[in-house]
Amino acid sequence: MTDIREEIEKLKREKNAVILGHYYQRGEVQDLADFVGDSLALAQWAARTEADIIVMCGVHFMGETAKVLCPQKKVLVPDLAAGCSLADSCPADAFERFVREHPGYTVISYVNTTAAVKALTDVVVTSTNARQIVESFPQDEKIIFGPDRNLGNYINAVTGRQMLVWDGACHVHEQFSVEKIVETKRLHPDALVLAHPECKGSVLKLADVVGSTAALLKYAVRHPEHTYIVATEAGILHEMRKQCPQTTFIPAPPSDSTCACNECSYMRLNTLEKLRDCLRDESPEITVDPAIAARAVRPIERMLEISARLGL
Ligand code: SF4
Repeated sequence: MTDIREEIEKLKREKNAVILGHYYQRGEVQDLADFVGDSLALAQWAARTEADIIVMCGVHFMGETAKVLCPQKKVLVPDLAAGCSLADSCPADAFERFVREHPGYTVISYVNTTAAVKALTDVVVTSTNARQIVESFPQDEKIIFGPDRNLGNYINAVTGRQMLVWDGACHVHEQFSVEKIVETKRLHPDALVLAHPECKGSVLKLADVVGSTAALLKYAVRHPEHTYIVATEAGILHEMRKQCPQTTFIPAPPSDSTCACNECSYMRLNTLEKLRDCLRDESPEITVDPAIAARAVRPIERMLEISARLGL
């Protein structure tokens, strides 16, 4: 019987497809991807690929971003139900009302939003470039930041800004608790805490390093001598362990020890079987209303331009 990995590789070659995988995917999916990265890196990769088909092994908004950047290409996702609680916490109609109520504000949206929200946005950011992009505006610029309240409040705290922050959150990052991290620290007193800025402010105060998944990975690679407690989606530990095989990485435990809440159930929907099937059937395919895509592309490209200028 043909190994499923061989089937995927064969289909990929036949169809001139590229497989992009997010750090929060299952390990076996990451291992098969042509490129693994965070949201910024996946968008950068999608923007420059020459493949005819992009298979986005991530969640729906990542597929939308690729489609908006590459309208002529077919963009597939292994499971269309792979959504995002953070994107869901910011419905486009409610966000539009909020923006209208605040004329004169520059709208900065995190990449974890639907294309319809991006279409209401002046510049998109990811956790890798959010601080630098906010700081590229004058200190007194009036800014709306959506949808992640934890990331927005964190940027306000480190930059001294007073951005108006949309009240959204990611269910995975929200559930990390001070209590559980302190408990883990007690068992591993020398461990450093790495935390993603989507975590609550009280958790970020405990962190030795706050950064995007890519930044946390980079830190660990540069300092493999430490032990790390990692407060972000547990999928990143796959790449961390690959790149630093001698280092001990401990996933920050979920607040409820009876669940695997430090794993994103949406990200886990993509499996090797679904990846094979979507390449074979060229479905499910991501579509974006062309009128929305025409408005959403501008703030995404602006993010890519600023990131390139800043060397991110
Ligand atoms: S981890 Fe959170 S922000 Fe990331 S895709 Fe899952 S629900 Fe969305």
